[in-house]
Amino acid sequence: MITHSAPIKKRSAEESIILTLSGASTIGVLPFAIYRIMEQDWAVACLDLFAVFAIGSLFVYVYRTHQTLIPGRILAFVAMFVVFVTILLKGISQLMWIFPALTAIFFLLPANMAAIYSLVILLSIGYVLREQLTVFLALEFYVTAIATLLFSYAFADRMRKQQQQLTELATSDPLTGAGNRRAMEQKLLDVIAFQRREQSLPVSLILMDLDNFKKVNDAYGHAKGDDILKVFVETIKKRIRSTDKLYRFGGEEFVIIAENTPLKDAMKLAEQFRFAIENEGWLAKHNITISVGTAKYEPHETAFEWLGRADRAMYQAKDLGRNNCCVA
Ligand code: GH3
Ligand code: MG
Ligand code: MG
Repeated sequence: MITHSAPIKKRSAEESIILTLSGASTIGVLPFAIYRIMEQDWAVACLDLFAVFAIGSLFVYVYRTHQTLIPGRILAFVAMFVVFVTILLKGISQLMWIFPALTAIFFLLPANMAAIYSLVILLSIGYVLREQLTVFLALEFYVTAIATLLFSYAFADRMRKQQQQLTELATSDPLTGAGNRRAMEQKLLDVIAFQRREQSLPVSLILMDLDNFKKVNDAYGHAKGDDILKVFVETIKKRIRSTDKLYRFGGEEFVIIAENTPLKDAMKLAEQFRFAIENEGWLAKHNITISVGTAKYEPHETAFEWLGRADRAMYQAKDLGRNNCCVA
């Protein structure tokens, strides 16, 4: 059964990246700001202090709110802005700051946006430094900058793809491709947290259990039983809205969390699913049917209580002779 305690919210990869980059930049730039103040180089001192304050604030914001999208974009912009203005003020001696900034933006922005930012800034720097750069130095600068850009792109892209694969593996059931129980528990907690803030949108839970599945396995074998579970999931997936997700709750028990769905509509959906399974050609050949329990979320209920009510409704459907729908 579902656990009672709320899970500790782990930091996402995006959060870790922003916290590391903003934390390191704040600490890294602070000594330079102090040095510039001591040198009474007020323009650069102000710029460095702005960077420390802006990036430090982003660190605190992300640490507290777990938000990453807008802070990531702001961080990328601030990094590029500060590097560019530093080069504008101090010239060629500050050129090396562009390399960490280029690397950072590929981890902070979508690849194409980062590429556009990079090209704009590299061309602008070339223009600003046109009188200080020799042809050979310019060539060296562009070759190393573009190499940095390409490596950063490749690493960031690989990291994002692997992260997607890991998320997919961690949240889906390997046999059927439905969401797994861990994903279902997380979704239930998210939905309940949302309901506690915003009770106006009803949400319903539909719990489906294949009837006499032990006998099905005994009659056709376990491998055929597995195929039946796969076809069951395909059949249901074809009939749910893109916003509703199907989860494998246990062996032959599945759950749909239908958001923004009043009980009346959820009951209709449940009956459509029952009918679809009973009449799907290949499943019908094996006499597959389901019993379905439906429960609307009631205010202040825990996930455990909500699932429990759907489960009892499903058992009522079993008591009525199976291949039935009941409501809590
Ligand atoms: P009821 O109508 O009361 O639900 O009867 P049932 O036989 O479906 O219920 P029971 O809980 O007794 O048995 C569930 C069966 O589902 C037992 C188990 O072998 C089978 N099962 C669970 N997971 C899998 C699976 O991944 N593959 C296969 N082939 N069978 C599974
Ligand atoms: Mg069953
Ligand atoms: Mg069962």
